[in-house]
Amino acid sequence: IFQAPTAAANMPYTINVGDPISALDTPSMIVDLDLMEKNIDALFSQLLPMGVNIRPHSKTTKSAILAEKLITAGAKGACVAKLSEAEVMCAKGLTDILITCEVVGPTKVKRLVDLFQSYKEIRIVVDSEEGAKAIDTAIGESGVADRILTLIDLDVGLHRTGVEPGEPALQLAKTVAGLKHLKLIGIQGYEGHLQHLHGFDERKRACLESMKILVDTAEALRKAGHQIDVVTTGGTGTAEFCATVKGVTEVQPGSFLFMDTDYRNAVGTKYKNSLTILATVISKQGPKQITIDAGLKSLTTDSGLAECKTLGYTYGVLGDEHGSLSWKDGADLKIGDRVEMIPSHIDPTINLHDFYYAHRNGTIEAIWPVDARGKVQ
Ligand code: PLP
Ligand code: MN
Repeated sequence: IFQAPTAAANMPYTINVGDPISALDTPSMIVDLDLMEKNIDALFSQLLPMGVNIRPHSKTTKSAILAEKLITAGAKGACVAKLSEAEVMCAKGLTDILITCEVVGPTKVKRLVDLFQSYKEIRIVVDSEEGAKAIDTAIGESGVADRILTLIDLDVGLHRTGVEPGEPALQLAKTVAGLKHLKLIGIQGYEGHLQHLHGFDERKRACLESMKILVDTAEALRKAGHQIDVVTTGGTGTAEFCATVKGVTEVQPGSFLFMDTDYRNAVGTKYKNSLTILATVISKQGPKQITIDAGLKSLTTDSGLAECKTLGYTYGVLGDEHGSLSWKDGADLKIGDRVEMIPSHIDPTINLHDFYYAHRNGTIEAIWPVDARGKVQ
């Protein structure tokens, strides 16, 4: 199931494992395997000895092969953000999955129940009585006997999703525990607002504050008689702090595998930028500027502009399909040259591409499809 294709299917040209990256058409998404493996090692060798489960977030990679690689490295299952990503991962054989976004609305709930009929290990989060009851009713009507593994989603300060700590969380847990087809197993509290805080000490301080809300709530739920086995949280910017907190059982980092300029600026170079977009110089615009074939459809801009891996060039967006690279002195980029661009925000950038071309020292070693590309439902 996790066998990587040796050649990318459905391509208008042939590219094979063993080919040099110079044989790729552009723009292409390429991964430096040595750097990616260093990132896996850096995260797992630090966090596993701390006694915490690592459930990497596949919202970043959208790839079953990469999720499986991380499980081989020691991960416990995977997270996905959306139900449609879970559908893809399950079809590929990966079933220990936590869907970290609430599943809401009759169509989506029906899809969830359909998936649950075949994949009983799936875990969901709820943050409202309406949401929990709708899922309970739909499972009941489907005739499935099992209970779906459910976590209370807690707001630890992000104010995106999650029930408020204290009485509202207790009330929701009581409701979930009373539902016939939901099985309360834990609590999720994601501190996404802290991931990109600059400065190790400030990020750590703020994270530990959020973690106190999370583990205190978990404890309060236990006192009220609930069995809270899973306390899951954390991302690339905070996982190392979350893992030190007594009561946190699981962390969910995603971006560490590839990084981006936004994370590098905040967290530093503990994890390396292992993924770049390979682009071609297609036009010369005067002595100090060229145009590459990578614009908004290849590199996202919500977190600032991508950077050229070669220092000294400044990227600018020239439209959907075009970008500029300009420089102060000298003119050493010519038509046909290749450049590597480091994305500013890794997750939405990957969602723009069909394949990863993984290489070691410039030789393609693997081609991985972005299985859940475009799966945003
Ligand atoms: N957990 C949840 C709920 C998330 O939404 C995200 C990212 O947005 C992550 C974990 C992973 O974060 P990162 O990619 O920053 O490591
Ligand atoms: Mn992101």
